[in-house]
Amino acid sequence: MPHPRIPVLVYHKIAEPSAFDVNSNTCVTPENFLNQMKLMALLGYRTADPEEYLKARLGLSARLPKKPFLITFDDAFESVLTRALPVLKSNGFSAALFMVSSGFGKSAFWDGEAADSPNRLLSPSGLRTLRDEGWTIGSHGVSHRDFRGLDGVALTEEALRSKAELEAELGSEVSWFAYPYGGYTPDARRALAEAGYKIGFATEEGDGDIFSVPRRIVSGKSGLLNFAMRLRQAGKRSLL
Ligand SMILES: [Zn+2]
Repeated sequence: MPHPRIPVLVYHKIAEPSAFDVNSNTCVTPENFLNQMKLMALLGYRTADPEEYLKARLGLSARLPKKPFLITFDDAFESVLTRALPVLKSNGFSAALFMVSSGFGKSAFWDGEAADSPNRLLSPSGLRTLRDEGWTIGSHGVSHRDFRGLDGVALTEEALRSKAELEAELGSEVSWFAYPYGGYTPDARRALAEAGYKIGFATEEGDGDIFSVPRRIVSGKSGLLNFAMRLRQAGKRSLL
């Protein structure tokens, strides 16, 4: 049984771009984010329950809203807690967030962002707050290395260590994963499965396998019309 069309969106920072941002496309302004979520609510979309979403992806019968979608955040910036959470709550939405396990309280060091950048990654207590709000917390690797360039030993280390470190902070299981830079290989998928993850998210290049689920990046350049078009594309792509 093919799984239903469930668009998956991916965001990074919810912030006005500043001189600290190496890649300003990773910033969606709070105003744009608010309008995008209002549009989703207006169109009748509701976020899917993570467990039910997993079932649907595996072709099992699942309890889903009439128009389900998934919101995900990569890297786990503090702005997700301060700017995105209130907007999602007011619309009755939830989300999944993917954290770099060595990144607590730091800046986006893998992008070369300054250590004194105001764009901080979440603290352990911030992460727990989102978990307690019902969000799904997943891994984004140990230090945001590109999985396409790692050998089998390094893949296993990234998959297992990031899972263990996040679980130690949360005191709960971490079974979702999003590839840094969205890229994966057959070996990367295997490493996730062997480490005990249930699902792995890529970005635009995802082929629809449970360990390479495609997602649509919402960038700072996306106006509301562009956002709506990407949403439509996301629904089509997830048929793969
Ligand atoms: Zn990332």
